[in-house]
Amino acid sequence: MNRMTLSFDAKLENEAFARTSTVAFLMPLNPTVDEIMEIKTILAEAVVNCMIHGYQGCEEGQVRISVAYDETHRVTIEVQDTGIGIEDITLARQPLYTTRADLERSGMGMTIMESFSDEFEIQSHPNQGTTVRLVK
Ligand code: ATP
Ligand code: MG
Repeated sequence: MNRMTLSFDAKLENEAFARTSTVAFLMPLNPTVDEIMEIKTILAEAVVNCMIHGYQGCEEGQVRISVAYDETHRVTIEVQDTGIGIEDITLARQPLYTTRADLERSGMGMTIMESFSDEFEIQSHPNQGTTVRLVK
């Protein structure tokens, strides 16, 4: 097993840092270009969700990314915020469902993350935050 955790302020300027650092950690697995692209997309969607939804209306907050892989090259990624949480997870996972149409969000982030993952689950509690966990 090899593990790492990143914690950073929920500022949009940190999104690229989160993506590239996570991919750098996974380089010993020799991922394909397609795998790198998919992991970067998953991270971008998850991290931006924490920033614009999880900490909506909050002055500040932290995003935490935990990544692990084992000798079979099974990669587990967790992206966590301690923000407002999701009231109805089933609804939030529906394609095209968004609570931020005002920001021209398309409501496809969850669907994209799920389609690029082998396993995908969401844990969330109102006012405690949200954790997205996936296996790739
Ligand atoms: P897009 O990802 O296409 O820009 P979106 O972010 O609205 O649009 P999803 O990523 O699929 O779409 O998320 C669906 C909805 O789930 C969001 O509109 C929001 O209401 C809720 N949501 C997602 N992530 C979080 C989070 N970390 N905290 C609170 N609510 C969330
Ligand atoms: Mg989204």
